[in-house]
Amino acid sequence: MSYQALYRKYRPSTLSDVIGQDIVIKILKNAIQNNKIGHAYIFSGPRGIGKTSIAKLLAKTVNCLDLKNGDACGKCENCLNIQNGFSPDIIEIDAASNNGVDEIREIKNKINLVPNQLQYKVYIIDEVHMLSIGAFNALLKTLEEPPEHVIFILATTDLQKVPTTIISRCQCFEFNRISPDNIVKRLEHICKLEKIIVEKDVLDSIADLSDGGLRDAIGMLDKLNAYSNSNIKLEDFEKINGIVSNQEKLKFLDYIQNGDISSVINFIDKIYDDGKNLIIFVQNILELCKNKIIQYYIDNDCSYDINFLIQLSNILNEMLKNIKLVSNVKTVLIINFLSFMHNYHFVNNINDVNENKLTEKNESNSSKTEKIISREIISNVKETEIMDENVNFQIVNNCFARADKKEKLYFESNWNQLNDYALDSEYGAAACYISDGKVRAVGTGEIILSFDYASMVNRGFSLRKKIEKLLEKIYNKHYDVALLTDDEWNKQKEKFIFNKNNNIPYQYIPINDNVDKIKNAKKIDDNSITSQAINLFGEDIISIN
Ligand SMILES: [Zn+2]
Repeated sequence: MSYQALYRKYRPSTLSDVIGQDIVIKILKNAIQNNKIGHAYIFSGPRGIGKTSIAKLLAKTVNCLDLKNGDACGKCENCLNIQNGFSPDIIEIDAASNNGVDEIREIKNKINLVPNQLQYKVYIIDEVHMLSIGAFNALLKTLEEPPEHVIFILATTDLQKVPTTIISRCQCFEFNRISPDNIVKRLEHICKLEKIIVEKDVLDSIADLSDGGLRDAIGMLDKLNAYSNSNIKLEDFEKINGIVSNQEKLKFLDYIQNGDISSVINFIDKIYDDGKNLIIFVQNILELCKNKIIQYYIDNDCSYDINFLIQLSNILNEMLKNIKLVSNVKTVLIINFLSFMHNYHFVNNINDVNENKLTEKNESNSSKTEKIISREIISNVKETEIMDENVNFQIVNNCFARADKKEKLYFESNWNQLNDYALDSEYGAAACYISDGKVRAVGTGEIILSFDYASMVNRGFSLRKKIEKLLEKIYNKHYDVALLTDDEWNKQKEKFIFNKNNNIPYQYIPINDNVDKIKNAKKIDDNSITSQAINLFGEDIISIN
């Protein structure tokens, strides 16, 4: 006997055999058992999840001469004829391969003829949204008053494109993607019957990749089975599907964390040349980050910096949205990874430099046996240490990353409260100083002020902590303050517009001030990760002068 594709071989033979569409099946079986069969159905949902299989099963079941609990018997004359594809009363039309006008006209002409053998004539129109307008109009006429002996089953992957006049005459069923669990179970079942030895990870990976489509999943299993002679290993799966191995992925993550630019470029070049799927690669790295973050929280065991993982996840998530739309995926990936590394390591270097300065100071001020420094001293020293230009630009970056229109309106509406502090002994200097500045951009936790002259900006650096405390009093929240000359602001604004036009996102990166918060990153919960993502990638993010 010639080889039969696994997908055909393991196609469900009754409605009850169908996997992952429980609700649809229950409703259909009830209708059959209670003799309340509709005359027009629409099955909608993604491809490969069983719409046409169920349509055919329904056609068989309504015509079965010996129903068993609402399922076709598979043995009666009608069942056998339908199963063997011999029944002239089951008519399948693929609207994707032609516009359907002739076929639908043919239906119209013959619709009143009684079935040849069966009780019901069943018309199955696949990808019905592809019909031409003319065909839809013809179909509409037949749907208005279908004869008793006719059932229409329209299947579509794109319900939006089906005219509402058609939809309103049909019973609509939305089909779900099949859950990974169900897919794995089905694959396990097939492997057992086919005596295929397979590593469990392979089935999970197939389920992941098939995205809820059982047909694709079984197809993949079939291909792998042929490739590996019934003994399937994970590496076979990775090879066949152009997937980068786990070991390689970990190596890549190391390159990124270590800021090893040339290795990152070479790596992406190589997987591209090897024909690996770059979109799946990004998905996999995101998945890996997710697992590492979970490891960090659950097992307290993670070789990566948690902050690194969270920031990288955000950028990968954003990449996934964009790369599906571009043609030069490789270039876009390289640019995105390099820009991430640039930002991430830029901040880390500032942190390192500051840590070193602290240590040096401390060692010169105390004997080497007294190396234990209270946190308080460290943070006090840090307050003056971090007021340098690098931090200033970091705040600019964060402000662009989280620029927010509402925040800016809120900020400006309270700006005149500065006047109340003009004569204040503690905050007067800061209040007078910033009232000379121009508010250029406001993020969810940072602002950019610009001044006419560099000397003004320099004076502000020594006042920054005071300024931030003053703002906290007025706004009841903390803002990091960046101070720029007007010229520098214009440059930054141009850069921002350039980046925005080229889809290069700004990433929010916590600054050194918050080092305690970063080190206590366990407190960062999923919500804050999500909200960080929303802040980073929300739609209405930008408001600048
Ligand atoms: Zn039967």
